[in-house]
Amino acid sequence: MSILSRARADIVAMKGYSSARSLYKKKPGMVFLDANECPYEPFIGAENLSRYPDQQPQELIDALCRLYDVSSRNFMIGRGADEMIDLLVRSFCEIGQDNIIICPPTFAMYEHSAILQGIEVKKSPLLSDFSLDSDVIKKTADENTKIIFVCSPNNPTGNVMDSEAIKDLCAYFKNKSLIVVDETYAEFAGVNLIPEIENHSNLVVVRTLSKSYAAAGLRCGVAIAQTDIIDLLLKILPPYPLPQPMVQTALQILKPKNLQRLTHKREELLRIKETYITFLESLDDVKKIFPSDANFILLHVKDADLFVEKCLCENIIVRNQSHQPGLKNCIRISIGAEEEMNRLIAALQGSDTQNVYDDRVASIKRKTKETAISVYINLDQVTPLRINTGVPFYDHMLEQIAKHGGFSLVLECEGDLDIEAHHTVEDCAIALGQALKQALDDKRGIGRYGSHELILPMDEAQAKVAIDLGGRFYLKFEGDFPDTYVGNTDNPLPVDMVEHVFRSFAENLQATLHISVLGENTHHMVEACFKGVGRALRYAIRIEGNDLPSTKGTL
Ligand SMILES: *Cc1c(COP(=O)(O)O)cnc(C)c1O
Repeated sequence: MSILSRARADIVAMKGYSSARSLYKKKPGMVFLDANECPYEPFIGAENLSRYPDQQPQELIDALCRLYDVSSRNFMIGRGADEMIDLLVRSFCEIGQDNIIICPPTFAMYEHSAILQGIEVKKSPLLSDFSLDSDVIKKTADENTKIIFVCSPNNPTGNVMDSEAIKDLCAYFKNKSLIVVDETYAEFAGVNLIPEIENHSNLVVVRTLSKSYAAAGLRCGVAIAQTDIIDLLLKILPPYPLPQPMVQTALQILKPKNLQRLTHKREELLRIKETYITFLESLDDVKKIFPSDANFILLHVKDADLFVEKCLCENIIVRNQSHQPGLKNCIRISIGAEEEMNRLIAALQGSDTQNVYDDRVASIKRKTKETAISVYINLDQVTPLRINTGVPFYDHMLEQIAKHGGFSLVLECEGDLDIEAHHTVEDCAIALGQALKQALDDKRGIGRYGSHELILPMDEAQAKVAIDLGGRFYLKFEGDFPDTYVGNTDNPLPVDMVEHVFRSFAENLQATLHISVLGENTHHMVEACFKGVGRALRYAIRIEGNDLPSTKGTL
């Protein structure tokens, strides 16, 4: 007996759709005249958009199987975890006869998918500590129960479900019901039931790139189960479900170096979470924060409607969960970036966030063949300060500009560093100049001019810097550096780039910049330049009034 005996008989019997192309092995140089596609691309520079994509593109299958450490026979890709939930309900539940069990409070899509397909929804509520009530699940099930949905970590409560309890359910419902474990947030919690697939013929694990891989806009999710279940689901998955741009983008996300970056980002987000839990706990409105294993937290507040209203007044949207059983006056908050969380705290404390934090902000994305850069700047906040260009000494220098300039800067660059740091260094300077210009907007109220003379204590380096943000680019740079590289790592900063950096920066900021530097130690001289530019900027960007800083009335 197999779990397929519990699937819809008509679907088990159905032959899946097969395209002409899927019948033959692809070979280079093949001519495709089988699918009524056009032989030209829809715009110049488009790649492979004129052709239907494979139902399950091999390259993406390989990359995701590596990520989840599963065999491709136990694995399928679709448009998000949501589509997987939908496919499972459609392939196993008979309309007007079968039912599913959900364990509220939980994620809404299980119930939605069932209702959409005319399937009854039975409820087995979580216990008061939000753990599974296995006894009630077993009592609630009947001969028509086809799927039991378990969400771990659970949305919206944030807790992980006991894996022993889940395995016990798998054994108890063997050959009767699917146990579908939605592990959308697993990476935040460090849990993983995928290895249990081989032990349980009725276990399905659902994963997605949406949350822990920061790609909700991509629509890429997977189901992992024994082969008979996967084959059945593939039969009802449409023939071309995965858009070509999605496949290409997913492959980029899954590159080993980027996965490392995402792991760091996840850790950073969890640290931010801990910080703000402490903050939020101290607020009058908040009664309790439930323990969370995910990238969101559930708060028990005094008055949920009031809480939502307070946030909304400052243009912050949070999720009221009061409609869920047992969650009266509970609010779910996703953990955002530090600057977003600061706004939340300010809103809840009743300070005016809009004017204080929001005005002089810029966010820039810049992509060329050689580099991809994102910059965030807030001229009226000193944190966050995070720079990662791949050239550690340069990170340190850009940090000096922001730190001494008194503004917050988040700059990330993924550049082609194997050959030379030139592109990375120059493009970051361009993006920083652009972002500063954007954040200054019409420059109303700023000081416009700034200058600084700086002697690094305990050594000989000395820099003089003057800046004018008047809108005209000019660079005067005087300095002779003794060395050609600075920074003692695999990726040093080429010293001939220092002048380039300030040129690109000033040009894109539309500023006049004079720098002269003296000294004997290259490291100290370069550092003096960057610190000096930061200091000069501090005066130039400072708000001093409400006027345009020009006698002509325009800049
Ligand atoms: C957000 C969420 C999903 C949706 O995932 P997609 O891959 O974006 O469709 C699924 N399950 C849970 C529990 C979620 O919170």
